[in-house]
Amino acid sequence: MFQDSQLKPGDVIGIIGGGQLARMMCFEAAKLGFKTCIYSDTENSPAFQVATSYVCASYDDTKALEGFTDRVSSVTFEFENLPVETLNFIASKLPLRPGAKALEISQNRLVEKKFFNDNNIATAEYLEITSYEDLVAGFNKFQDSILKTATLGYDGKGQFSISSGSTLEKIWHDATESNLPLILEKTVPFEREFSIVAARSIDSKIIYYDVVENIHESGILKKTIFPAKIDPNIKDQAEEIARITLESLEYVGVLAIEFFLVDGKLLVNEFAPRPHNSGHFSLDACLHSQFEQGIRAAAGISVIEPELLFSGRMVNLLGEEVNQIPELNKNSSVKTHHYGKSEIKPGRKMGHYVVRD
Ligand code: ADP
Ligand code: MG
Repeated sequence: MFQDSQLKPGDVIGIIGGGQLARMMCFEAAKLGFKTCIYSDTENSPAFQVATSYVCASYDDTKALEGFTDRVSSVTFEFENLPVETLNFIASKLPLRPGAKALEISQNRLVEKKFFNDNNIATAEYLEITSYEDLVAGFNKFQDSILKTATLGYDGKGQFSISSGSTLEKIWHDATESNLPLILEKTVPFEREFSIVAARSIDSKIIYYDVVENIHESGILKKTIFPAKIDPNIKDQAEEIARITLESLEYVGVLAIEFFLVDGKLLVNEFAPRPHNSGHFSLDACLHSQFEQGIRAAAGISVIEPELLFSGRMVNLLGEEVNQIPELNKNSSVKTHHYGKSEIKPGRKMGHYVVRD
């Protein structure tokens, strides 16, 4: 219905969610001449500081959502754990890019893995777990494995590692506390972890960022090396998987896919229907960042070749590490980003920096 709508400078792009990703989208929107309106349920959201305007209300507040849709010309989002009804409501009034389908798939690890497998894309082996007996049977089948909540997990939260010494009763007790659906994944003996950020616009154009290598600590991304030092065939595999995913979802926006490398082959871990932490390097190291591509796509403008300007690494500043910023700022080959969060918490993403090789 909204296929041909293209925004003009001065128009307002609505962004749902008010964290660092939305904040970085606002900066890039401003460079293209667009205004931004953030919708977030959290007071003091980092993106409120840099958006043109914002609405602070819960994600199921129909009246507030109506007021929001009246103020904007198209809508995108910065995180996937939103009620699908909220997005369907928005999509009934305005272009929503990406659409609700991608979000629905990425919200549930069971649905997500089935989606990839149905498209002949390999993932870790997995089982749906609905009872303690399922967990025992799953452990007998997989041995080393990870029990995860199928919904609402991020930064390694809601995950329980299982190996031969584990007490399954305790894991079952802890994992069922949240009352969320559960998935058991076989632990992948991966050699390295990679990701790719790609984007697609309404004219079906697709662009890919370089594949990057990710180093996690306690399930949280710590460091991204860009570009990853890999065989060209790994890059081809990653781009092909991204292309199939973008096309089968008729996706409009930025998407990231996380991979495990096992025996020279990529297995998909998960995807994110939005800009991704492992693509933050693009703000400084590319002529066109992942946030710009998301804004272009939301505005109905073609995405564009990103043009890598230099190689290096991106390091996340977690918790108190944000206090390193003044010292880092003395180094001319380092570019820091402070997210402006009001409270420091252990493991919380507070900022990041990019260092040129
Ligand atoms: P999140 O949504 O929190 O990012 P992930 O499923 O990506 O959750 O898990 C975070 C990290 O935990 C992964 O990047 C990887 O390092 C490790 N991990 C997750 N699932 C597996 C698995 N099946 N096998 C091996 N490592 C895993
Ligand atoms: Mg992940």
